[in-house]
Amino acid sequence: METKNIRVWQKVDISHIKDHLIITEDVIGMCGKCRQLNINYKNHKTCPGCGTTFEYVAVKNDSPGDIGRILDAIRGEKISLTLIDYRDYEKASARDQLSGLFKK
Ligand SMILES: [Zn+2]
Repeated sequence: METKNIRVWQKVDISHIKDHLIITEDVIGMCGKCRQLNINYKNHKTCPGCGTTFEYVAVKNDSPGDIGRILDAIRGEKISLTLIDYRDYEKASARDQLSGLFKK
């Protein structure tokens, strides 16, 4: 069986992702909820700063090689994180904030 990495589109609850997200460039990243730095997605299932459980990892670096390496690590080390595209996340959360403004 030959496996490849492709992006899968899904409807998601962006506020849920925001509360359970590590933003990273390679291995060391930042909590999306409280902005705590120096979090290693391989070692931390929860944030040492705010205690949130991580479910998603967003990769700022969009090099396919780096993303492939992170996907391999998540699969190989059985880390329960879903990799999302950082720019998709940013766009969706910006839209979320805008619609919040217009509701007021
Ligand atoms: Zn945190």
